[in-house]
Amino acid sequence: MQRVFVVDANKQPLMPCLPTRARQLLKKGKAAVLKLHPFTIVLKEKEKGDLQEIELKIDPGSKVSGIALTCSFLREKVVLWAANLEHKGMAIRSALESRRSLRRGRRYRKTRYRKVRFDNRRRKEGWIPPSLESRVHNILTFVQRLQRIAPISSISLESVRFDMQKIQDPEITGSEYQQGALFGYEVREYLLEKWERCCAYCGAKQVRLEIDHILPKSKGGSDRVSNLTIACRDCNCKKSNYSLQEFLKGKSGLQSQILEKAKKPLADASAVNSSRKEIVNRLSILNLPLSCSTGGRTKFNRTLQGYPKDHWIDAACVGESGEDVYIPSSLIPLTIKAIGRGSRQFCRMDKYGFPRTSPKDQKRIHGFATGDFVKAIVPKGKRIGTYSGRVAVRSSGNFCIDTSFGKVDGISFRFCKNLQHADGYQYSQQSQQQEERHFLPRLKSRVSMSSVL
Ligand SMILES: [Zn+2]
Repeated sequence: MQRVFVVDANKQPLMPCLPTRARQLLKKGKAAVLKLHPFTIVLKEKEKGDLQEIELKIDPGSKVSGIALTCSFLREKVVLWAANLEHKGMAIRSALESRRSLRRGRRYRKTRYRKVRFDNRRRKEGWIPPSLESRVHNILTFVQRLQRIAPISSISLESVRFDMQKIQDPEITGSEYQQGALFGYEVREYLLEKWERCCAYCGAKQVRLEIDHILPKSKGGSDRVSNLTIACRDCNCKKSNYSLQEFLKGKSGLQSQILEKAKKPLADASAVNSSRKEIVNRLSILNLPLSCSTGGRTKFNRTLQGYPKDHWIDAACVGESGEDVYIPSSLIPLTIKAIGRGSRQFCRMDKYGFPRTSPKDQKRIHGFATGDFVKAIVPKGKRIGTYSGRVAVRSSGNFCIDTSFGKVDGISFRFCKNLQHADGYQYSQQSQQQEERHFLPRLKSRVSMSSVL
């Protein structure tokens, strides 16, 4: 189960408790609900609890980032709480692009070309594209929010995909990759990046990719990174013991292309990790011990422990402390989706661009704003019943509530109670039945090199 966050009467964070304990406290009137998402209770009387060290672990992703809180109980790290944070990404890009084209159209409408008079468009230092900026911002927001409700003592972050220092050396000096199973994972991530995550021979994408020796080992090929490439299962099987020249007979163009690419080390390896670097920079201001690790390590830890792939599970497996984590099978992550705080558009349009609704004059109607989480108890009439969910306000005062069983229109504001103000994020917690997770049995022994590569 997800733990419940607890804060004391002075709003100082205490150790998260089990849901049963929280239920008891609420029933006895010793605590009140402070926040619905993430579920937090506040104690009414002063109470001292001993605090243990909680580690916040983050796996930043381009579309979804994983967040996990772990605490060590009896030598083992236990996941207390986890979430998948979905970013806005492309929505921001397309919104900015549409704004830009509208403005450009307006500027050039019935105007002759005029020379630029000002050259004041300069990017500040540390500028990153807005879609990446929002990703960084989302993560930072939740780190700070969690800091307020849980006694977080350190942060562990997956800051790079692979360890450049470990890879660069073998590419230059030609030492071989067989330096332990973990190193194999670093090489794999590196090769995936270098060969752009597609099969070098047929260009297949979104398939399981394997490491392939360009000159087979049986013909004297080395384990150097410059002799390795990425191939899909089919190509890898078909190539088996053939050399590149034999396998790609008649395709000399592709042959030389592959050979040339294999020789060159990945040029802009640092650019791959630019938004992660920014996260590290901004987290370092928080005055918490920050440890960074690689994606190769995360994958290695997760595979060894037989956990399935999910963003929050990856987060739990980040770094050295992710070597031995216990994920309770009943733990279901909170899904947090960044949706923003509404649009600046004054009224909706029909397909011809004419206004379809009357312009909104205020964001709050009778104290409610679109995005608030409300509960409505309708005692009589056509809509009799209890509804809870995200509200969309209407100036008429009859709101639309997005409940778990669909949207319900025409609920008067008089019956609504605000449970949580809109904060730009949408939260959902899957129930136990909806979530089907199959844990593989934990691998007892360390995997051998052959099964890793
Ligand atoms: Zn292929």
